[in-house]
Amino acid sequence: MKKIIIAIDGFSSCGKSTMAKDLAREIGYIYIDSGAMYRAVTLYCLEHGLFQGDTIDTERLKAELPDLDIAFKLNHETGRPQTYLDGKLVENDIRTLAVSSKVSIVAALDFVREAMVRLQQQMGHEKGIVMDGRDIGTTVFPDAELKIFVTASPEIRAHRRFDELQAKGEPGSYEEILHNVEERDRIDMNRSVSPLRKADDAIELDNSHLTIQEQKEWLLARFREATGTK
Ligand code: C5P
Repeated sequence: MKKIIIAIDGFSSCGKSTMAKDLAREIGYIYIDSGAMYRAVTLYCLEHGLFQGDTIDTERLKAELPDLDIAFKLNHETGRPQTYLDGKLVENDIRTLAVSSKVSIVAALDFVREAMVRLQQQMGHEKGIVMDGRDIGTTVFPDAELKIFVTASPEIRAHRRFDELQAKGEPGSYEEILHNVEERDRIDMNRSVSPLRKADDAIELDNSHLTIQEQKEWLLARFREATGTK
């Protein structure tokens, strides 16, 4: 069967990655978490002292970015890809609130976006991928055969993120997380380069009241429609 590109975009913490991962596994496609790439750059900035409060040393980042090695490798136990930065496994380190609260600043920089988009396009070169993010259907793969735009209320999204962090024993209050979710939405929607918006040909999914199973079935049905399979 001809392989396609599936772009899943939407707001922060609305379960895009869970649905994208599940779908990719089900249909035998490669899953790529584009947000993890922006998070890895942010972790690099935090670990190398490129931040002064919310201000970033863009000249240094511009000079050092080409040498950053961001890669995904499959964890054979879970069957899921994990993020590596300069050869080090950073899958957990990039999900902390410290990184979440700075990532939208880094993701708004045009030279960072250019470099990440180029990498993402290379990864999708042979199709057969599910990529989630903010600008996959609008900028990275405007010709993707299936585009989904996911939404859910900020409160529901903050609850999900809160539960996730609690389960991992990470710090962060619900109020703090809600603030972070709303702040990231605001920055992502208002930045000048590739702002978060629904592509005209994307199918919208509000998953506020859907279970993971219902969401999975909905998505599989869209995949079958897009590929003309039963
Ligand atoms: O998807 P996730 O929440 O991990 O993404 C982290 C951040 O990276 C987002 O808040 C957004 O600022 C940025 N991002 C982006 N474009 C993408 C993916 C993520 O700007 N394609």
